[in-house]
Amino acid sequence: MSETINVTRSSMPSFEEYCNEIKDIWSSRWLTNMGTKHRALESGIKEYLGTPNVTLFTNGHLALENVIKAFDLKGEIITTPFTFASTTHAIVRCGCTPVFCDINPVDYTMDADKIEALINEHTSAIIPVHVYGNLCNVEKIEEIAKKYGLKVIYDAAHAFGVTKNGVSAANFGDAAMFSFHATKVFHTIEGGALCYGDESLSERLNDLKNFGIHGPEEVPFVGGNAKMNEFCASMGICNLRHLDEEIEKRQKCFEHYTERLSGVDGIRLNSVQQDVKSNYAYFPVVFDGYKYTRDQVYSRLAQQNIIARKYFYPLTNDFDCYAGKPGFDSAKTPVAKHIADRVLTLPFYADLSIDDVDRICDIILG
Ligand SMILES: *Cc1c(COP(=O)(O)O)cnc(C)c1O
Repeated sequence: MSETINVTRSSMPSFEEYCNEIKDIWSSRWLTNMGTKHRALESGIKEYLGTPNVTLFTNGHLALENVIKAFDLKGEIITTPFTFASTTHAIVRCGCTPVFCDINPVDYTMDADKIEALINEHTSAIIPVHVYGNLCNVEKIEEIAKKYGLKVIYDAAHAFGVTKNGVSAANFGDAAMFSFHATKVFHTIEGGALCYGDESLSERLNDLKNFGIHGPEEVPFVGGNAKMNEFCASMGICNLRHLDEEIEKRQKCFEHYTERLSGVDGIRLNSVQQDVKSNYAYFPVVFDGYKYTRDQVYSRLAQQNIIARKYFYPLTNDFDCYAGKPGFDSAKTPVAKHIADRVLTLPFYADLSIDDVDRICDIILG
């Protein structure tokens, strides 16, 4: 049987390049707490994304929780159930109530036309998700947020390097959260960041991610610990050097998949949005009226040791941990439900060979 193909495979610099990057840590003995690697990565990301303020975190999830705390959000937050567990859990863990807005069936992001109907006097923010690197309707969301005085935090975990008319996903909303988890297009093993326009936020975020400690004898906030260490930052520094090349390789895979699978009845692909430069983060396919169901395609691939992923399924408003809680009901987000039941993300990473893409497509089409 052929070798297992997983849904993703982390990109890594050469062993030598990484060792070279971490070498001076042995003389500095500075392993965490905003060391030189941390600072170098922050400025590298600022430059790469063309964004004024970057704060690094242990992971994307804690970045999200910390910005919710930094903005002191309360009450209801409008969000999407078509996302990773993190988005909804962060809202709940911060003591707020998620209010689920349905998605649009074209790019799977929050349907901006359905937001206003969910706003009431308890609403404090909107947390949309740039799903698969597809950008939300940022213009419309900004307009609504301004009209009602709401904060907007983008879960941009999928959108590192994505731009619209040259503007980075980092620059939309009051803040954008990126995840640098090992499975993401750009990673630091584990890690994450917040990007934001208001410079005055950075002091507060830096305190919050370090137990709320501001100075040796000054603790103004109840904070946790969410600092990125120097080894993770070093991995990021190396990976950032190769990112453009990685994205180009992903684009080749993307184009080959698209060539093989487009125009097939019952198969819907995710095309790159107009005016958007993609980072080719995922290859989602919606099987809707195809000769095989999504679950059948999943099993056919699994029989050949090819591991695709039902992503995002289940919807977060269908999670067991929220069962029976008011407002957690996927029947109220029917478009999201329809897509979650039919979507499969295919194996996709920079080093996936064209032969493997062909093998995967042959099984799907066979
Ligand atoms: C990966 C991911 C996160 C969480 O990021 P971590 O760095 O793993 O904590 C949040 N939201 C979405 C949409 C993600 O894909």
